[in-house]
Amino acid sequence: MRFAPVLRRGAVTAAAATLAVLVAAVPAAAVPPTTPVFGATIDGHAAYDPQTTCDPVAKPGTLGFRELALRTYPTTGDSGIVRACSAAEVTEHKEGRAWDWTINANNSADHARADELLAWLLATDAHGNQHANARRLGIMYIIFDGRIWASYRASEGWRTYTGSNPHTDHVHFSFSRAGALKQTTWWTAADQPASWPRLERGASGVTVQVLQHLLNAAGQTLTVDGSFGAATEAAVRSFQSAGGAVSDGIVGMVTWSRLLRQVRTGDQGSAVRAAQVALNASGAGLTVDGSFGPATQAAVTSFQSAHDRPANGVVDPAVWQMLIAGIG
Ligand SMILES: [Zn+2]
Repeated sequence: MRFAPVLRRGAVTAAAATLAVLVAAVPAAAVPPTTPVFGATIDGHAAYDPQTTCDPVAKPGTLGFRELALRTYPTTGDSGIVRACSAAEVTEHKEGRAWDWTINANNSADHARADELLAWLLATDAHGNQHANARRLGIMYIIFDGRIWASYRASEGWRTYTGSNPHTDHVHFSFSRAGALKQTTWWTAADQPASWPRLERGASGVTVQVLQHLLNAAGQTLTVDGSFGAATEAAVRSFQSAGGAVSDGIVGMVTWSRLLRQVRTGDQGSAVRAAQVALNASGAGLTVDGSFGPATQAAVTSFQSAHDRPANGVVDPAVWQMLIAGIG
């Protein structure tokens, strides 16, 4: 049984939205969420810790994951987080640490979306950690289309689900208490404030040029002069409020993350200019023409190789983060 979703988007703090919005820059085509750059430190597989109390308030980690999934797959829906205390069953929904993602298992496109997100959750990361994103998010178990994956029985992989509801109209995610409270590394370890320059009125330099190009890519019409003045501040506020974020005119990690747009060979425009300016700050020597051709591609692969990243020539959020951090 499903209950009406409780939509409390206002309850999502700016910080909560940070990682979710990383994926907003990615086209709506089938692309899994972007994984931030993490170190080797990772959470263990969540132990089984079922609902014991009733506190039907959506928890921040649950909200954050919902935001991540819905931003990545905007055609999919929300079947709710909280469930009333009067419900008879034991369910983490009653503690606001479970989410039902509306997915029709009988629709192949929908099924593919779910398969993609689940594969992303359970993939091994660059450090060799199995089920890395599921662990970082504190996912305790997942039920979909007659199968269950549980972190506490991870070695068994996907198993047949024997509960009465086969979960063919939604994917159920339960979170550990730490995951629900955003105490897991997805929420705590990707935040690298030192590598996200904080820009506000009065700032100047190459980083401001990158910012201005990215704002233009988001629809603003700034003159790119590398000077964070009144016009740039107004553009930042406008961009922030359009995204429902706190409109403080200050560019920190949240705003940077929302501004980043993935660019690759063949792309054109201000986001490409931003990447070219940032690459030049690392010595690329590109003409800033907004056209992502072979020279830009070569500069990106060279930058990636120098930073031990897969040299695929795509400026994804992880590359953006390193580029912006590298401007200094
Ligand atoms: Zn559920």
